[in-house]
Amino acid sequence: MAFDIEMIEKVYATMAERVDKARELVGRPLTLSEKILYSHLWEKMPTQAFTRGKDYVDFAPDRVACQDATAQMALLQFMHAGKKTVAVPTTVHCDHLIQAKVGADADLSRAKSQSSEVFDFLSSVSNKYGIGFWKPGSGIIHQIVLENYAFPGGMMIGTDSHTVNAGGLGMLAIGVGGADAVDVMSGMGWELKFPKLIGVKLTGKLNGWTAPKDVILKVADILTVKGGTGAIVEYFGEGAESMSCTGKGTICNMGAEIGATTSTFGYDDSMRRYLNATDRQDVVKAADKVADYLTADAAVYADPEQYFDQLIEINLSELEPHINGPFTPDRGTPVSKMKEEAAANGWPVKIEWGLIGSCTNSSYEDMSRAASIVEQAVAHGISPKAEFGINPGSEQIRYTIERDGIISTFEKMGTKVFTNACGPCIGQWDRAGAEKEEKNTIVHSFNRNFSKRADGNPNTHAFVTSPEMVAALAISGRLDFNPLTDSLLNDKGEEVKLNPPKGEELPSKGFDVEDAGFQAPAADGSSVDVVVSESSDRLQLLAPFEPWDGKNITNAKLLIKAFGKCTTDHISMAGPWLRFRGHLDNISNNMLIGAVNAYNQETNKVKNQLTGAYDAVPAVARAYKAAGVPSIVVGDHNYGEGSSREHAAMEPRFLGVEAVLVKSFARIHETNLKKQGMLGLTFANEADYDKIQENDTINFLDLTEFAPGKPLAIEFVHEDGSKDVILANHTYNEGQIEWFKAGSALNLIAAGKA
Ligand code: SF4
Repeated sequence: MAFDIEMIEKVYATMAERVDKARELVGRPLTLSEKILYSHLWEKMPTQAFTRGKDYVDFAPDRVACQDATAQMALLQFMHAGKKTVAVPTTVHCDHLIQAKVGADADLSRAKSQSSEVFDFLSSVSNKYGIGFWKPGSGIIHQIVLENYAFPGGMMIGTDSHTVNAGGLGMLAIGVGGADAVDVMSGMGWELKFPKLIGVKLTGKLNGWTAPKDVILKVADILTVKGGTGAIVEYFGEGAESMSCTGKGTICNMGAEIGATTSTFGYDDSMRRYLNATDRQDVVKAADKVADYLTADAAVYADPEQYFDQLIEINLSELEPHINGPFTPDRGTPVSKMKEEAAANGWPVKIEWGLIGSCTNSSYEDMSRAASIVEQAVAHGISPKAEFGINPGSEQIRYTIERDGIISTFEKMGTKVFTNACGPCIGQWDRAGAEKEEKNTIVHSFNRNFSKRADGNPNTHAFVTSPEMVAALAISGRLDFNPLTDSLLNDKGEEVKLNPPKGEELPSKGFDVEDAGFQAPAADGSSVDVVVSESSDRLQLLAPFEPWDGKNITNAKLLIKAFGKCTTDHISMAGPWLRFRGHLDNISNNMLIGAVNAYNQETNKVKNQLTGAYDAVPAVARAYKAAGVPSIVVGDHNYGEGSSREHAAMEPRFLGVEAVLVKSFARIHETNLKKQGMLGLTFANEADYDKIQENDTINFLDLTEFAPGKPLAIEFVHEDGSKDVILANHTYNEGQIEWFKAGSALNLIAAGKA
């Protein structure tokens, strides 16, 4: 499991030269984000200055990480790439498929038996292709990456949106779809639009009840869930330096909640302390030699307005603890205002559950500060009014806090310790009574609080706050309790005021673990067999998609004209479908079932033009495919926004959809369509959307001349015999047209032509 010091030293060896060259080309001092971007160009040495928010650039990430729900399809695709091993260090983490119910041991053994074939598959593929495998129970992907692999100035991608957590150790870590991960694992470059930059200057110092979590809760309140889109958030200032490395991780983690590409901090003493505590003295030694390149040029932080596209300033000394929610992480309420806000909005003030942990907040510091509140309650004879649960981020954290008595402190309040896994954070929580869908409130220290996310109950009002605030609120049992000003009654009826939390940034006796749960890959995996049962309903080996036949697509049928918002959740729903993420045929039964049909305003009810009957979208697509009839999908604006899951592109490809024609695309989904060998097209004239009719037959007129920058002409033959020819724009470059011709990007990689 050891980090790869040779790889890190290699990155640092050329960093100065690359960054100096970039500074010369850009012609001004550089931010940290720019230094990391320019030192990770696929072309290695910078040859031009890029325009933020405009230029698409190929990068060479240092690492890849995948979690069990997304790794299945990523690795099934990688198996087709024809490579002997992964080209960059890669790890797989089993954390999403473990449900929290009664407690760690029972829950883990149940998950192991329920998902054994998935875990066995991930383990054997990892073993074969040189991938580090973290077994179920080892912990959550982002906590393990921070403990073992993240390093200042590095760049990594991960098939999970909270990959950004590694920014706490000064990395640029970015969440991507599995197809992107396959490219990098196969030794190809990875394309990203050169991001814009948002600077956050932190002055003052955290004190009292305020924690790093409150910084990002405040930033989310300011920027909203869309405010960081297409941007890297770079934190700096004395306030940043005064915070722990894991606190920085919490802030970067929730950068995903403002839509940011990623977030990061400059290399400082807190990172040195964390690297030393996690046994990575070699990384400190190597990083210290290039320390000037692991933070922005001094001139940037002296006059930040000049260098960032947007600047936010927060004084930590004045920052109040925040409680964000319900239903969205950007609805911020300072603790002093919660009483009136809760009353004004009718939020249930009685708290049923307090949950601490997840990848966002399960550091030693988090746990020890929350435990200091519990300790006080126990000492004063205060009985907790809400139930309490913890899901530690890793076995190393769990083992260490058990050794140091922190778990037993929590247990004095009847706390349930769940498996080191995502659990309630991803809806993997079998909460008793949730099926009654009663209106209720829970508080947690996770990152997301969308409707149904924790327990499937749409009426659960989930609020996000720091672990110490979760502890205080759960003990009080009230959402409108303000520990800074209010007292609690103990079991003797006496008034007691809680002191502010105290904790240790790092364990004074060091971290410890008996079995971290890591499986190193075979030195030579060529003889390792990967077994996928043909009768499995959860895993299915992929067959390559057919290459283009070189002819115009003709006599295609309209599968659906989607109306309004059509996100990746509408195209490939999550929730109960999570279990089919490794089985393309089965998961294709959720294709577009959430999309609204423009002709009847209903979901999952479209006309089968072969029979005239209305049926579910996947059923109609399968009928067309069986009859050898190609189909196309038409959509509205920002089609495919949301998650980066490539299932949303693979499913239509698998079910015979040849083209998706929309008013505009979310960029990652457009790329995913291209990668799977499909046509992702936009109306040259948006009003043409209205010309498409339910019974249309579609003919491409000049696909044989498919070329960069040249719109395609498509004929829509209506039921009455009349026709409309419309122009469709596209953004395919030469290389991407080759993906289309080959049937998919993966087919090209497999043929050794990518
Ligand atoms: Fe995602 Fe929650 Fe798991 Fe973190 S703990 S990786 S946010 S599901």
